Amino acid sequence: MKIIFLGSQASGKGTQAILLSKKLNIPHISTGDIFRATIKSGNELGRTLNEYISKGSLVPDELTNKVIEERLKKEDVKNGYILDGYPRTFEQAVFLDKIQKIDKVFEINISDEEAIKRISNRRSCSCGKTYNLLYNPPKKEGICDLCGKPLFVREDDQPETVKKRLKLYHQKTKPLIDYYKKQGVLITVDGERPIEIIHQDILNIIKKK
Ligand code: AMP
Repeated sequence: MKIIFLGSQASGKGTQAILLSKKLNIPHISTGDIFRATIKSGNELGRTLNEYISKGSLVPDELTNKVIEERLKKEDVKNGYILDGYPRTFEQAVFLDKIQKIDKVFEINISDEEAIKRISNRRSCSCGKTYNLLYNPPKKEGICDLCGKPLFVREDDQPETVKKRLKLYHQKTKPLIDYYKKQGVLITVDGERPIEIIHQDILNIIKKK
């Protein structure tokens, strides 16, 4: 199974991708996570990536495609994978089509109002865990349940950057909905429901097809 999750920021696509990857026992591949790990390592590439990401811009297609191409050469993807945050542009989708055949694309759909509400309540931890103060707050305010480190607002979750990222989503990523619809692989899921219900919905769809 080769699956893509599409959706705006805070649509819950990352959460759903992780749940499904555990269920199907295939890797969850998030370009955002790969980029953040590279930034953390402090090398030259990380500094370049940070310039784009901290401003809420997209990382150039050529660089992003190269990262994904390398990742998809690894042994662990032989039984399939779940892509989260890639492709994000038409050029990336065309590139991916050249190297892989995708089985299903789930679009997790939420309104912009809901995205902004969720992001302004999002808190992150350097261990990778994220929280939402409305829907899944940490047990102790400001502290990660998993590792005890202080939580923070991601630089690209700041209000002005969020607006820019949403605009980019509509301009660059939304056209992929039609692209995959035409290929007959698109499934749109209502993302404004509880996490577990959406997960069950996705599992049922996969079982049926
Ligand atoms: P995410 O964690 O998916 O929200 O990604 C965080 C940031 O990484 C995005 O706002 C972009 O700057 C960058 N990024 C992640 N995936 C891609 C992609 N497929 N193409 C271009 N930039 C990306």
